[in-house]
Amino acid sequence: MTSSFSNLSLAEPLARAVAEMGYESMTPIQAQAIPVVLTGKDVMGAAQTGTGKTAAFSLPLLQRLLKHENSSTSPARHPVRALVLLPTRELADQVAQQIALYAKYTKLRSTVVFGGMDMKPQTLELKKGVEVLVATPGRLLDHIEAKNAVLNQVEYVVLDEADRMLDIGFLPDLQRILSYLPKSRTTLLFSATFSPEIKRLAGSYLQDPITIEVARPNETASTVEQRFYSASDDDKRRAIRKVLKDREIRQAFVFVNSKLGCARLARSLERDGLRTAALHGDKSQDERLKALDAFKQGNVDLLVCTDVAARGLDIKDVPAVFNYDVPFNAEDYVHRIGRTGRAGATGLAVTLVSGSDARLVADIEKLIKKKIEIEAIELDDERPRGRFNEGRRAWQDEDGEARRGADRDRGRSSLSGHGGAPRSFRPAPAPRDPFFDQPYEASAAGAAAPAWEAAARPSAGRGISANIKPKRKVAALFKAPEPTVQ
Ligand code: AMP
Repeated sequence: MTSSFSNLSLAEPLARAVAEMGYESMTPIQAQAIPVVLTGKDVMGAAQTGTGKTAAFSLPLLQRLLKHENSSTSPARHPVRALVLLPTRELADQVAQQIALYAKYTKLRSTVVFGGMDMKPQTLELKKGVEVLVATPGRLLDHIEAKNAVLNQVEYVVLDEADRMLDIGFLPDLQRILSYLPKSRTTLLFSATFSPEIKRLAGSYLQDPITIEVARPNETASTVEQRFYSASDDDKRRAIRKVLKDREIRQAFVFVNSKLGCARLARSLERDGLRTAALHGDKSQDERLKALDAFKQGNVDLLVCTDVAARGLDIKDVPAVFNYDVPFNAEDYVHRIGRTGRAGATGLAVTLVSGSDARLVADIEKLIKKKIEIEAIELDDERPRGRFNEGRRAWQDEDGEARRGADRDRGRSSLSGHGGAPRSFRPAPAPRDPFFDQPYEASAAGAAAPAWEAAARPSAGRGISANIKPKRKVAALFKAPEPTVQ
């Protein structure tokens, strides 16, 4: 099977868009799926994000829609003919952007609707008429009920990240949406895994699907160094800081199991002096996009996220991934660490294991078929000492020596808890967080300096993907503030 786009006989506008995107050859999922989707058959595809699956379904779908392309301005001439459903706003946005790029030289119209945003602009777009509608299930139902979206002319439906949609509990919504669609249509289902639930869903809604599986979903890349460290809940943040410092890592994803835990951890890490952003389901769309952008621009060191929020984000090749919580579902471990070590680059995946995680670790071991050794990690004792002298805007040691607070205040954007407004950083006193925090009062006599006061180390830095451009290395966070003249 050839892997060149030129052998596909894509319509000229699509071929031009693909060439403009710089794609030279097809990815394995594209090579397998595109010819099948072009025939109009149902497809059940097992492919993870990052494999090129968006183009795998959208290019052939657009090619088929082009048959009835028209330049009429009448909304009635632009009914919804393809519907793409995704579990999260970010994914919907990302896929819609890609589809818009592939369709840019055609007369086909596309738009995206998802929750957390005003319905009105979405309604206006829908009323103009769109052939390709990308949506999250809940918001789509709102638009269906408001009669903004009519789905009786849909020829293609794509259930993308279907396992995630089921995990989130979208099955009833999906069933309702699918009940509005014509029976005669093509259904494409993509999922990271083919669990029994996914197979049941496929059994109900797909007709004689062609199964395409490109990568064994339980495979972990050999380019990822996987470490498991034993750490109590109280020590996990220190362990993260230690690894960042020792490995001179600039940016990382930190995974947690719950939305609440995600928000709390992001706040705590921010108080520790790291620039963090939280990404979870309760964040507004605007906050999420800001957080993502800040991470991509290198203005955020740690993106603290839940599995659902992180799934499918187009952020590739992060230097490291931390599992602050061992995932409940072993397959999520594989997805999480797949964020690092991509495209031949080496990556580090650190899982912090506390006493009650033995079974979860055993599940991971079974899934990845690799022996897991849980190591001890030697932590620096880095509780802050002294106190912050508000009047002098200076950090004061027990011995009375003042240090300039500016190093702590240097424009950290607190996306995790303060809506993105820069604020000054005051390490103490901080409210005690019953879930994660050690008390942060700076009082313990003789305690060692906090992480950000440790000596700066020369940093060779690690390779980082083109779309993540850190402005500053995390190592800089560990730089000692300069003493002020008394
Ligand atoms: P996806 O798995 O669909 O989220 O795609 C992941 C990324 O791969 C996106 O940034 C795409 O633009 C890119 N991509 C998709 N297909 C190709 C291709 N054939 N060659 C190079 N990049 C691609």
